[in-house]
Amino acid sequence: MALRLYNTLSGLAEEFVPGGVKKESISEYPPASIYSCGPTVYGYAHIGNFRTFAFNDLLRRYLKFRGYRVDHAMNITDVDDKTIAGAAREGVSLSEYTARYTSIFFEDLAALNIEPVEHNPRATESIDAMIDIVSRLNEKGIVYEKDGSLYFSIAKFEPYGRLSRLDTREVKSGLRYDTDEYSKEDARDFALWKAPREGEPYWDTPFGRGRPGWHIECSAMVRRIFGGTIDIHTGGVDLIFPHHENEIAQSEAAYGEPFVRRWIHVEHLLVEGSKMSKSLGNFYTLRDLLEKGHSPRAIRYLLVSAHYRKQLNFTFEGLAQADSALARIDNFLLRLGEIRTGGDANEESAGLIAGFIERFTADMDDDLNVSGALGRLFEFLHEVNALIDRGALSKADAGRVIDALRRVDTVLGVIFFTPGEDDGIDVERVERLIEERRESKKSKNFARADEIRATLEAEGIILEDTKDGTRWKRKR
Ligand code: AMP
Ligand code: ZN
Repeated sequence: MALRLYNTLSGLAEEFVPGGVKKESISEYPPASIYSCGPTVYGYAHIGNFRTFAFNDLLRRYLKFRGYRVDHAMNITDVDDKTIAGAAREGVSLSEYTARYTSIFFEDLAALNIEPVEHNPRATESIDAMIDIVSRLNEKGIVYEKDGSLYFSIAKFEPYGRLSRLDTREVKSGLRYDTDEYSKEDARDFALWKAPREGEPYWDTPFGRGRPGWHIECSAMVRRIFGGTIDIHTGGVDLIFPHHENEIAQSEAAYGEPFVRRWIHVEHLLVEGSKMSKSLGNFYTLRDLLEKGHSPRAIRYLLVSAHYRKQLNFTFEGLAQADSALARIDNFLLRLGEIRTGGDANEESAGLIAGFIERFTADMDDDLNVSGALGRLFEFLHEVNALIDRGALSKADAGRVIDALRRVDTVLGVIFFTPGEDDGIDVERVERLIEERRESKKSKNFARADEIRATLEAEGIILEDTKDGTRWKRKR
């Protein structure tokens, strides 16, 4: 059986082939390169955003479960109209303002048992890579200037609209899709680089002073981190057009090679049947729900339990159902812990375990059919309960059942839910990043070295460079 994942670009569920070249066995594949559009750090992220981030986590966890290696980046948008306005409103610098919401965001991810990823690039640290793209596009005659801003001319990129299956004629001049704009020749064009405005942060570049448009950062980071075509790009469905369409246009026009092999888009979270909005009073941040006394474990369960290509309706009743599903699991674990029956592990339970893992995997292989996979989990609990009722499960068998649950929970992250218990620190990963930072400095890749320091700092880990090497400690 092969893992199949739906690709928005082709409209088909295709076999997953990291690097694009099929190999004999999974261990031969290069690490799967994954890029996920991250948050704009101007406030608390809402639970709709966390649906998408929880899905990204499920995806990377399942790839690892299947034996793939992953190399995953999620950006932090730390300069745009909203962050600039927020910082100005509070009278603090842009970096102070965004650092606050970046740490809050990482705390929220950790509360939901979402694993840290390998790279968390910031837009403001990727300016050189943006300059590279804009310069290349400029040389190719795809860029024009208007009132000091630079625009990408869609008319010069023939494949525009493939991802969203947009007939470019449908995007009529005069319609505004991008609120992020000043003035341009054609409504479809988008800003690559924006002219500075009074009191706003700016960067000096070969094409003048200014700040990046929104779309350019993702193209720049993908290039800087992965160097070429990547395996998977994810985001919510609202990003297909124009954001992802524009990322493709910039990257492919600049570098002349495919940008992304597979696009994965997560459907929206609705609240009590409607779109989440502040005016309807159904807008929840994670912290709102935690303050109301809901557990992060039930919230994670609810967020990951529905198939990512279906809309998910968030209701308090659904959250209560998530709680009772988890209570069933907890009761089952208690029951297993009480088993005192001696004897060796038997074939009957071994058969149930093997069947369960096989069915769980088959469902997840089918475009991450997690609701099916959770169904398999509860079937398994039912089967094992029947064995216990018959007195046919020994303590040794119970140990194997727990091992199987641990295994599937490396994917689900809801059964043995202990974020924070061990400080959530993956010591091995921290050490690996420190080593990579040392190597980066040696090869004068200071951008990567700084990024590693910033990534760890946002997770609450401080690096101290001493004459004997780098030490790390938890921020108190
Ligand atoms: P933003 O910070 O607005 O750029 O959004 C961060 C991520 O959350 C993006 O991938 C969005 O597509 C996604 N997102 C926004 N709203 C929702 C929603 N209601 N349900 C699921 N994902 C969403
Ligand atoms: Zn993006």
